[in-house]
Amino acid sequence: MTKPFLPPVKEYKKIIEGIFERGVLTNQGPCLQEFEEKIKAYLNVEHFQFLCNGTVALQLALSALGITEGEVITTPFSYVATTSSILWERCEPVFVDVEPDNFTIDAAKIEKAVTPRTKAIMAVHVFGYACDVGEIQAIAVRHNLKVVYDGAHAFGVEYLGNSLLSYGDITTVSFHATKLFHTGEGGGCIIKDSGVAARMELQKRFGHQYDDHRMLGINGKTSELNAAMGLANFPYINEIIADRQRVSVLYDKLLPEWLQRPKSQTELEYNYAYYPVVFRSEEQLLRVFDALKKEEIFPRRYFYPSLNTLPYIQYQPCPVSEDISNRIACLPLYVGLEEATIEKIADTITGNYE
Ligand SMILES: *Cc1c(COP(=O)(O)O)cnc(C)c1O
Repeated sequence: MTKPFLPPVKEYKKIIEGIFERGVLTNQGPCLQEFEEKIKAYLNVEHFQFLCNGTVALQLALSALGITEGEVITTPFSYVATTSSILWERCEPVFVDVEPDNFTIDAAKIEKAVTPRTKAIMAVHVFGYACDVGEIQAIAVRHNLKVVYDGAHAFGVEYLGNSLLSYGDITTVSFHATKLFHTGEGGGCIIKDSGVAARMELQKRFGHQYDDHRMLGINGKTSELNAAMGLANFPYINEIIADRQRVSVLYDKLLPEWLQRPKSQTELEYNYAYYPVVFRSEEQLLRVFDALKKEEIFPRRYFYPSLNTLPYIQYQPCPVSEDISNRIACLPLYVGLEEATIEKIADTITGNYE
């Protein structure tokens, strides 16, 4: 379904040579600092912490906001890390069902799920589509809740004239190799408040400054080698997004009308991170998968299963998410994907209407 983008190896080597000359491999090295500065400028945000992955970013987001117990309202339609990070932080996920047309949390249903124990809302800009950030902010103000967005899919998305990653108290990103922009492994937090940013800076380094142990921390740091990959990829962001747009536009043209697609959002400048399609039934999805497998083409069931059905949590019904999870898939989408492959995928889907 995806293939990591790789910069010209010469350009990566040049940055690595600098690392070898300096002999600094981690702990706030110059590559990391340069990378953090570049990201802040690109996103036009004040505070950004580069972290070891997008999962630790979610956990540190809750922790840095002081959320160590209670309920966190979240979406069942995401990658498992969204839910697991809440559990690791000793909080309880409370699931609110999603919008049928773009799969983000249904903001109109959030308020009914608020209880005296609710501490935060953790929503996901799933596939890079924007949550109802205005309504979520209004609910958070009314009930004194923190807002964390999992923006693992939203790097490069603009919404209402700003980076989509600039909304909420904290937005997390993932720079995993399978994501649109990557550092091999990596992630980070965009943080609104400078005090919270300082807290996370300490928490990602075990919570201590020399021998002064101030708070519970973790190792959330990233190495210079990962920062170097980020620096090497950075100049290609626009090219990456443009080529993914080429693939998406071709899918738009070739895929049949009956295949459900997310509703387009007028205020959003998309990053073409994913190409989700909703089949008419799970049987149809499985038949298309079988046919594509014979051609060595492998779409993914993203996201399946719906997270409210995970075996290690109490089941809370979310009929929209469960229905979509059973029928949705992401088609192959990466830089350099050939037109012939896209045509084959479109033909296979078109030929499996029944
Ligand atoms: C990839 C992903 C994560 C986790 O990021 P990692 O960097 O792999 O830890 C979290 N949430 C969502 C929605 C993701 O897709």
